[in-house]
Amino acid sequence: MKSLLSFALTGAALILPLPAAQAADAFAACLAQLRAPALKAGVSGAAFDTHTANLAPDMAVIDLLDAQPEFKTPIWDYMAGLVDDERVADGRAGMARWQAELDRAAKQYGVDPATIAAVWGVESNFGRTLGGRPLLTSLSTLSCFGRRQAYFRGEFFATLKIIQDEHIAPERLAGSWAGAFGQTQFMPSTYLRLAVDFDGDGRRDLVDSVPDALASTANFLKRAGWNPALAWGYEVKLPAGLDTAGAGRKNKRPMSSWVRQGVVRADGQALPAGETPAGLMLPAGRSGPAFLVTRNFDALYSYNAAESYALAIAHLSDRLRGGGPLVQAWPTDDPGLSRAQRRELQRLLIARGHDVGEPDGMIGARTRQALQAAQRELGLPPDGRAGMKALQALKASAAPTAAN
Ligand code: CA
Repeated sequence: MKSLLSFALTGAALILPLPAAQAADAFAACLAQLRAPALKAGVSGAAFDTHTANLAPDMAVIDLLDAQPEFKTPIWDYMAGLVDDERVADGRAGMARWQAELDRAAKQYGVDPATIAAVWGVESNFGRTLGGRPLLTSLSTLSCFGRRQAYFRGEFFATLKIIQDEHIAPERLAGSWAGAFGQTQFMPSTYLRLAVDFDGDGRRDLVDSVPDALASTANFLKRAGWNPALAWGYEVKLPAGLDTAGAGRKNKRPMSSWVRQGVVRADGQALPAGETPAGLMLPAGRSGPAFLVTRNFDALYSYNAAESYALAIAHLSDRLRGGGPLVQAWPTDDPGLSRAQRRELQRLLIARGHDVGEPDGMIGARTRQALQAAQRELGLPPDGRAGMKALQALKASAAPTAAN
């Protein structure tokens, strides 16, 4: 859940690293102190002893905890990578493959299949990207070092309870550095509260069971207040001169009052009049796309506490229902890239002799550094941003050799 927003972070440590031996001693002493509170939280002594016996701290997660974004991702980059044709095609295939389970979950939890699939697609790329850090290692480290130790101790104890009571093997519990795991990227405490067994095997398995993951997502949204009678919201067009001082997701007014002021749906269809509370969201200001969002948008927001994140899920769900791209362009002359375009940009950098690792479509520090170097070579401002202009410049410079 929290994993998503950390993709752009680097490992710039803000604390001085402890020497390894000193960290190991402090860690052992800390674990010994955690035994009593773990038992109080419901972990058995045997489970605690067995599953902490061979733990060693991974100080890299402390660096990630303290990392500052070196680069602010514009919303158009964020949306272009999360809602691209590839994810829409993968989502439609997933919805066809799991149609019976999605229909059953929709009936039981009141959340429609496209919304469930959109969360699945944004959280874990439909189960393809689960994160590879062992939860016990990350969460025990975060319980003993760094900020927010009290929070992470709760998640560490929850992980031990999952292993003990839910019979998920520790080696299957890997995820983001902060402990979000499985196809839904739930935190361990969220798992304990909200995961459900939907394939009937008696286990709540968000790692290896797609039906359990889909139904657990639906259960999360239902518990977050999802209303089956409401849309998440709509892209809208604002009349000239509309006062947008009262914009904001939380600043909800009856849909009818927006209609009266001349707000219309961007696709030309009628907005539902009526008293449904809706807030006006302008993620890139007055000249970018505008949205009226309902309380269902807030339910999506509660999954990861970021409006851009909730908007990616909302828009992907519309695309999975057959809707088109956003009507209003983002206010930029340098749009964001799909993952296919990001891979193309990486291949072009590799062809120029730069090291970006695998062309995986993920724009990390290495790709940015390589792009900055290429931008310098091409006489362009070296901002390292993988946008449309950078891709076009690389393509143009590669064209003579590519044609041979
Ligand atoms: Ca199950």
